[in-house]
Amino acid sequence: MTQQLHIFFFPFMAHGHTIPFIDLAILFATKGVKSTIIATPSNAPHIKKVTHKANKIGYQIDTLVIKFPAVEAGLPDGCDDTDKVPSPDMMPKFFLAVEMLKQPLSDLLEQHCPHCLVADMFFPWTTEVAAMFKIPRIVFHGTCVFSLSAMEHVRLYQPHKSKETFTIPNFPGDDIKMTTAELQDYVKQETWRTKLFNDSKETESECFGVIVNSFYELESVYADHYTDFLGRRAWYVGPISLSTKGVINKAERGKQYSSIEEHECLKWLQSKDRNSVVYICFGSTTNFVDSQLMEIAKGLEASGQQFVWVVRKEKESNDEKGKENWLLEFEKRMEGKGLVIRGWAPQVLILENEAIGGFVTHCGWNSILESVTAGVPVITWPVAAEQFYNEKLSVEVLKIGVGVGVGARKWKRLVGDFVKSEAIEKAVKEIMVGEKAMEMRNRAKRFADMAKKAVEDGGSSESHLNALIGELSSIAMKTCK
Ligand code: UDP
Repeated sequence: MTQQLHIFFFPFMAHGHTIPFIDLAILFATKGVKSTIIATPSNAPHIKKVTHKANKIGYQIDTLVIKFPAVEAGLPDGCDDTDKVPSPDMMPKFFLAVEMLKQPLSDLLEQHCPHCLVADMFFPWTTEVAAMFKIPRIVFHGTCVFSLSAMEHVRLYQPHKSKETFTIPNFPGDDIKMTTAELQDYVKQETWRTKLFNDSKETESECFGVIVNSFYELESVYADHYTDFLGRRAWYVGPISLSTKGVINKAERGKQYSSIEEHECLKWLQSKDRNSVVYICFGSTTNFVDSQLMEIAKGLEASGQQFVWVVRKEKESNDEKGKENWLLEFEKRMEGKGLVIRGWAPQVLILENEAIGGFVTHCGWNSILESVTAGVPVITWPVAAEQFYNEKLSVEVLKIGVGVGVGARKWKRLVGDFVKSEAIEKAVKEIMVGEKAMEMRNRAKRFADMAKKAVEDGGSSESHLNALIGELSSIAMKTCK
C-alpha cells in the first residue's frame, strides 16, 4: 500500500506570507497530500478556521501551534507576528526569536515525521534542520521568478557599486534598468538584514528546490534562466489563490479585521459599469502619513474616476481626529463616486468584479498576481522589499501597467516616497481611459486567461505540481516512514 505524503508548511509570521502559504497547503491537500501548517499562537485561530473548513469537505489539513519566544528575544509578550512589532528597530529581535524556533521545529518534526518541509524564505536555517531529519526542504518565497533572478544578479554582480543607474548584468530579455535608489538598503550596505538575505539566496541552491507562486507562461524566459543560468530547481504552481476555490470564502482571505461588509462593497460595485472603477490598496503592511493620504485623495478626485480606496489606519497617529475629519469630509463629497474602506478589504473579490478597471498597488507580489489573475492592469507604486523589481516586470516586461513615478525607496516603517496628486491623477487617467488603457487591459485579460488555463487539468501549473508530488512521493517511499 502506498503511504500518504505528509508535508509541513512553515510560513513567516506576516499577512503577505501566511496568506499564500495557506493557499499552498490547500493546493497540496486537494491532491491527496496531508498538509500541516505551523502557526504561532495569534495566527493559529484564523488558520485553524480555514483548516477546519477544509477538513469538512474532506481535505487533510492540520494546524500545529509553535510557541514563539518573544520575551526571550526581548520583545513584548505575545509579539508573534510582524504586525505586532512595536517599532521597526525591534525587527532584529523578531528575527532573533525566529531563529530560536530551531529547537521547537525539530521537536515537531520528530513528533510528526513529515516527508517534506516547505519553509519560508526567511527561515534559511530550516534547510539544516530538515537535513537532520533526512527530509527535503523546499523554499517558498512568495514572489515571482523575475524578481528572484534579478535580485540574485544584483547580489552576484553588484552593478550599483560602479554606477547610479545600471542595466541588470547578464539578465535576459529587455534591458532592465534600475537605479541604486531602488535597491534595498541591505544590498547597498551591511545591515542586520544582509546576512539573512545572503543566507536566503544561498539556500535556494542548497535545498531541494523552490516553489514559485506564478505560472510558467507568465515569465517563461526568466523561469528558464533561473534554472539554466542560475542552476536552481523550481516548480511554478500558481496562481495559488485560484486553488482555494470552494474552501476559503474569498472575503475571508487573511481576514483579521473587517471594516466594510463584503456585500456592501460588492453591491456598490455591481451598480457600476464595466471597467469604470479604480481600486487602490497598498497591501497589509504599508502605512502612509496623513499628508500622503490627502495627496491621494486630491489626485483621485481630480482624475474624475470612480474608486474603491482601502485606507489602513495608522498605528501611531497623533492627530487621528484631524485625519478622520478630512477623510470623512472627502468621503461625503465623493458619495456615489468613491468608496473608502478602512482596514481590511476583500481584495480578491473586489479585483474579480467586472467594474474594476485598474489597480493602484504597492507591487506586493500577491497583489500583482491577483491583479493578473483578474485581468486588471496596474498603477505601480512600489514601497519596499522586492516591489521595485515587481514593478519592472509589470510595466516593462508584461506591459500591463504604468508607474506612478516613485523612483526611490524610504525604509521607514514602509511609508514610501512622497507622490504628488498630479502624478496620481495622471496615472489614474492613463490606466482608466484611452487607447493605451485599452491595450493594457486587453493584455492583462490575455494573461488572466493563461492563468486560468495553467491551473486546469493538464495546465502547466497543475503539471508542475503533479511532478513535484510524484518526486516527493518516491523519496518518501525510499525513506519508508
Ligand atoms: N489583502 C486583502 N485585503 C486588504 C489588504 C491586503 O485581502 O485590505 C491581501 C491581498 O489580497 C494579498 C495580501 O493581502 O493577498 C497582500 O500581499 P502582498 O504580497 O500584495 O503585499 P504585502 O502585504 O506582503 O506587502
